[in-house]
Amino acid sequence: MKLKELTQRAHKLADHYCITDGKKFRLKDIDPDDTAWLKDEHKPLAEQVLAEGIDALAELQERLYAQDRRSVLLIFQAMDAAGKDGAIKHVMSGINPQGCQVFSFKAPTSEDLDHDYLWRCLKCLPERGRIGIFNRSYYEETLVVRVHPELLEKQKLPPELVTKHIWDERFEDIRNLEQYLSRNGVIVRKFFLHVSKKEQLNRFLSRLDEPSKNWKFSTADAEEREHWGDYMKAYEDMIRNTATKDSPWYVVPADNKWFTRIVVAAAVIDTLSSLDLHYPKVDAAKRQELASVRDALLKAK
Ligand code: ATP
Ligand code: MG
Repeated sequence: MKLKELTQRAHKLADHYCITDGKKFRLKDIDPDDTAWLKDEHKPLAEQVLAEGIDALAELQERLYAQDRRSVLLIFQAMDAAGKDGAIKHVMSGINPQGCQVFSFKAPTSEDLDHDYLWRCLKCLPERGRIGIFNRSYYEETLVVRVHPELLEKQKLPPELVTKHIWDERFEDIRNLEQYLSRNGVIVRKFFLHVSKKEQLNRFLSRLDEPSKNWKFSTADAEEREHWGDYMKAYEDMIRNTATKDSPWYVVPADNKWFTRIVVAAAVIDTLSSLDLHYPKVDAAKRQELASVRDALLKAK
């Protein structure tokens, strides 16, 4: 498939799940089991398209790197077992490792807690020309910390700053941060992989039943299921408050892994191809210099 056709298709698919105006967003409008117009029998074809998409991504990423003007920050958030790790692994598999940086944010360390909550993430922002991936991010501050208020207590904030407005204040700060980043050439795209509670149970059971997957299971993940409703409310509120034109959320149906990966790949291709990336142009003086170096090389042979 030609790059142009591929990018057009990517745009059509990604756009379907792209939320640029949070105010209108309702989580119930996205079915985790949705596969758009693709049916199960399209899976082999979908895999082929994904492979082509990954090649296209590698090409776009080379140009991003060569141009060295912008960087791309991809943020992944999801409930456990929604497939973040697999989506990141597949979609980025064709990319030059030198142009890509992945950071995972787990429970904060005592050093992290001695700083403001953005601190640990800001240290990991991608350099120009690179794609940076956050596997979880500062958005946990509006998710797990909101669902478990005792985590907020551990943050050692001055008590007068912890009011009922704290979540709205965090959303405002995050919106401002992302606007600042986009004004500095950092393209921010956010992914919520939306798995259903039922499919999460299936995946937990297979982690328990298959020895090779046991390592992925933690008892704490099972406990978080009890707070499912609170998490869904927190996710919805987060998207409603932080999906903007410049830094949209993609709400990706995640009950079918093959579909999740295609949508994520499509969104990344769509993002990169909208940037008009091209290799830096060589001016006449530089062309002349290259020609004379070529001559010299041949003469010295
Ligand atoms: P993942 O669960 O992302 O696949 P993992 O299982 O390797 O990765 P965990 O040790 O489970 O890693 O770490 C992720 C956990 O860290 C999640 O439960 C998440 O809610 C928690 N976490 C991340 N950021 C924060 C934060 N700012 N405050 C408290 N907990 C956080
Ligand atoms: Mg985990």
